[in-house]
Amino acid sequence: MTLEDGGKQLSAAQADMLRSLPSVEEVLEAAALEAAVEEYGRGLVTEAARGVINGLRRDILAGNDLDGERLGIESIARAAVAEAARIQSPSLRPLINATGVVVHTNLGRSVLAAEAMHAVEEVAVSYSNLEYDLGAGKRGSRHDHITEIIVELTGAEEALVVNNNAAAVLLALATFAAGREVVVSRGELIEIGGSFRIPDIMASSTAKLVEVGTTNKTKLADYEAAIGDATAMLLLVHSSNYAVVGFTADVAADELARLGHERGLVVTHDLGSGVLADIEAFADEPSVFDSLEAGVDVVTFSGDKLLGGPQAGVVVGRAEHIRRMKAHPMARAMRVDKMTLAALQATLALYLKPEAALERIPTLRMLSEGEKTLRARAGELVSGVGVAVGEAGGVELEQAASKVGGGALPLLELDSWVCAVSPTEMSVDELAARLRETNPPVIGRIQKDRLLLDARTVLPQQVEAVAVAFEQVFAE
Ligand SMILES: *Cc1c(COP(=O)(O)O)cnc(C)c1O
Repeated sequence: MTLEDGGKQLSAAQADMLRSLPSVEEVLEAAALEAAVEEYGRGLVTEAARGVINGLRRDILAGNDLDGERLGIESIARAAVAEAARIQSPSLRPLINATGVVVHTNLGRSVLAAEAMHAVEEVAVSYSNLEYDLGAGKRGSRHDHITEIIVELTGAEEALVVNNNAAAVLLALATFAAGREVVVSRGELIEIGGSFRIPDIMASSTAKLVEVGTTNKTKLADYEAAIGDATAMLLLVHSSNYAVVGFTADVAADELARLGHERGLVVTHDLGSGVLADIEAFADEPSVFDSLEAGVDVVTFSGDKLLGGPQAGVVVGRAEHIRRMKAHPMARAMRVDKMTLAALQATLALYLKPEAALERIPTLRMLSEGEKTLRARAGELVSGVGVAVGEAGGVELEQAASKVGGGALPLLELDSWVCAVSPTEMSVDELAARLRETNPPVIGRIQKDRLLLDARTVLPQQVEAVAVAFEQVFAE
């Protein structure tokens, strides 16, 4: 017995294994690493080799019996090359969303229109007039590039774009209600995934939350009774990711706007998703126009939910209010970059022609896709996947329901078509896990021991890649 590592007892076998581990320098001399150093740089390869050796040392100390081959220079060099390759490759990468959830927050929410992508590329690889007024030949404002089109589309007096809708809500609270009170219905104290909670956002803006009404019923009189000298704002929050059904009551935006203005308060509406298009799937979602028409002063919504653009928070409303928000120091910390501005402008430009918006903006296209197209695409999936699966499972064409996602229209189910796979030689969980490892990964949804691939969210140009992924899994 020998003592090592803080006096732990080592067996003779462990001591032998530790002694036989090569040094980092020895591994770096292996032929296999020369090419890797050339490709990834000496620093990364050295770190990778050190990491592999340390990992083996930990394994040995943990009592694992490792054969001589794994402790050899060749094997360690191979593992170091693989580790270096992994570290330098992007962790963020494309995948195929076959879940049927159109605005899937975990999977990147919106797929940009080609027009938006081109607009990003143009300003990304060149200098631009981001903050330069070409007419006057002097400093301009980045906000000006986007205001006009938002105003044109929504009919609002003014507009402002920040990094996301959470930032937009925070900025509104900080601008109009810092150190003062904001009245919100108890039925609207929502949490959106990723820790956006109305009470927490409120606290970080230093505004004080005053809850009124109950979870299922809030009346105008409840708001009236809560207004006092310290009140600065009435806040309406769209309960975007859940619905209170049954014995319910809430106050319409126009009634609340009237009350707020009588009492000299700012009325703000956090809409969540920004609906600007008129499509059937959005029937129950409040639109930006409805809020403005109701007389709300400040309306906020996301750029990458039902709008189908880049991550952004759009604020529209009265000129006087939006100007105050723009001038708040926090606005500088939330400002969007040129790529977001370019993508949002190009997305919004498509909305100027409603037919173009439905066809060209992937989110809107997926939500409004006709059943014939969905059935045909699911059929193509069934053919390709069926060949790959062969005798190792059943593959069927079926009808199913897909969801909007992204905290929008929680109750809505859209009729869709799926390719349903029931593997016989592995569990459905294992199949799902293996499909997460293909390139690109394929994410389906599991339902009753079957993996469903929903045609609604599989992009037409990805159908073949789904079949290839199944070939990779079932060839093994
Ligand atoms: C999604 C959502 C937010 C947060 O918007 P992000 O753009 O994700 O920051 C805020 N409020 C409501 C009601 C939402 O649905």
